[in-house]
Amino acid sequence: MFIKRLPKFTYHLPASISEALNLLTEHGEKGRVFAGGTDLLVSMKKREVVPEHLINLKGIAELKGIRYDPKAGIRIGALVTLEEIRQSEAVKDKFCALWDAVDKMASPQVRSLGTVGGNLCGAVPSADTAPPLIALGALVKMVGVGGERSLPVEDFFKGPKESVLRRNEILTEVFIPIPSQKSSGVYLKLMRREAMDLALVGVAVCLRNDSEGICREARIALGAVGRAPIRAVEAEKVLINGKVGEALAEEAGKAASVVCRPISDIRSSLEYRCSMVEVLTKRAVMEAYRRIG
Ligand SMILES: Cc1cc2nc3c(=O)[nH]c(=O)nc-3n(C[C@H](O)[C@H](O)[C@H](O)COP(=O)(O)OP(=O)(O)OC[C@H]3O[C@@H](n4cnc5c(N)ncnc54)[C@H](O)[C@@H]3O)c2cc1C
Repeated sequence: MFIKRLPKFTYHLPASISEALNLLTEHGEKGRVFAGGTDLLVSMKKREVVPEHLINLKGIAELKGIRYDPKAGIRIGALVTLEEIRQSEAVKDKFCALWDAVDKMASPQVRSLGTVGGNLCGAVPSADTAPPLIALGALVKMVGVGGERSLPVEDFFKGPKESVLRRNEILTEVFIPIPSQKSSGVYLKLMRREAMDLALVGVAVCLRNDSEGICREARIALGAVGRAPIRAVEAEKVLINGKVGEALAEEAGKAASVVCRPISDIRSSLEYRCSMVEVLTKRAVMEAYRRIG
């Protein structure tokens, strides 16, 4: 595709959330916030969107930083970069499905600019942080002029590039509750090559066992195989109250491939993506089980 130079725009650098919200209200349809710009500026060069006012969120300190509380969970500010998440020992240790995802995203340069807020708000079906955050039971917090609200990440997406975020709202943080004892997770991403590629299929699985090794909780989320990330509830039901092994994992894989709704495009066919959902879900279940140890 022919990429042009950036169109002309007026640049704003607010220092607080309220200042950013005022700018969004003032400029309405003509205004757009951005963080790393790794999605938005590319879309502007392709003339998919042409905002006249660009509001850079990176001057807002409240949206930065990771705060880990071993009793409650982890708060990740919307402006936290993918690389900062990758460097976080707490994420690597306790929320490993999310760590797997950021480890496989983009390149070091893009990871150093791109943010978790931008990845979610871009709302593309292949957004890699979405499936692990759904499987981890994460919440997103949004603030608008009318106040703030929180909701589960799985309720955030409506369709390709569409979320429940209102035009005059900003996503401020992601919160992931601390996982229970004897639980773990994993995110597996299928790409055409091993680096710098979007997911053809992404599967996140989080499991909790009881002391006998019986699976008591399972959350499975699929990326890039529907208009938005999909929670594979039927596949979860296959695992709950069962002893995870090859046969049960295979059954969960089959159940996951029934709920996925991929498209055929230049990168992969619908049939291949469905088959790969089955294969990756089985592998992810076995790996999550192995990680519980
Ligand atoms: C070479 C390359 C490789 C890539 N590889 C991957 C990959 O492997 N996996 C993947 O998932 N993505 C990938 N991406 C896409 C992109 O880098 C990520 O989605 C990144 O996380 C976007 O974050 P950002 O801060 O740059 O978003 P921006 O471009 O700043 O914003 C994206 C959208 O979100 C909105 N927005 C941003 N922050 C907020 C906020 N706090 N509140 C409200 N709205 C907000 C903006 O208005 C815009 O619509 C890649 C991009 C490039 C260029």
